[in-house]
Amino acid sequence: MISKFPVHCLSPGCDWKGTYGNAANHHSSCPKFRLQCQNEECQHVCQREDLPMHAASCVKRKVPCPECGMPIKNELMDEHREKGCPHSVEPCPLSCGELLSRSQINLHLHNCPEKAVECQVPGCKRVIKRKNTAAHVVESAVSHFRLQSGEIQRLRREIHEKSNPQNQCGPKEKHSASFRWTIEKFLEFHALHRTKQEPLTSKAFIKTGQRWRGVIDNNSVFLQLRAAANPVTAHIRYNPKISKT
Ligand SMILES: [Zn+2]
Ligand SMILES: [Zn+2]
Ligand SMILES: [Zn+2]
Ligand SMILES: [Zn+2]
Ligand SMILES: [Zn+2]
Repeated sequence: MISKFPVHCLSPGCDWKGTYGNAANHHSSCPKFRLQCQNEECQHVCQREDLPMHAASCVKRKVPCPECGMPIKNELMDEHREKGCPHSVEPCPLSCGELLSRSQINLHLHNCPEKAVECQVPGCKRVIKRKNTAAHVVESAVSHFRLQSGEIQRLRREIHEKSNPQNQCGPKEKHSASFRWTIEKFLEFHALHRTKQEPLTSKAFIKTGQRWRGVIDNNSVFLQLRAAANPVTAHIRYNPKISKT
């Protein structure tokens, strides 16, 4: 009896009339019934018959990005394609003309022909675009050859010095000491000592905490360390100011 009860639709603008038994059926499809848009965050409310039109342009609707396929809200799509989309392409920042996706850019920058690189020839230090490397090698063949020969010589010297550390030139004195040894009537004394085949020796003197004496033997002058079991000789540096003594 209740299902036969006459009722009418309460949606504004709807003139449907029927029975209580059909009311639920109508309610679920009433074109004038007001619904909220189902898209996340969308507050838009409209009649059911207008919903498809709203949905087509709803800014909260997620649509797959045409580049990467990720569902992105309509209103954020421009931003996504500009900044976030891993697949969207943009020109190489060094203007080599290549279009690159965001994920390719770092790798590309290492090999980009417009990238500035330092010439690998030691000493050249010229900074050139990668695409000009071959031309630079041709242009600078002469100066590269000089630089490389210089480098080879330097390395040879280094190897030689490493294998013969004592070969390095320059004085290797650990101590330097000076003493004054005056020989009266030197030539007479010298002649006398030479005929006797005896070296001419100075008085002992103490330098660097050790006792030394000067010795003249067959025209060479050297120092002897008195305490040493074997004679230790020292280099004598000639000083023209005192050559007469
Ligand atoms: Zn209705
Ligand atoms: Zn909406
Ligand atoms: Zn995308
Ligand atoms: Zn590039
Ligand atoms: Zn170079």
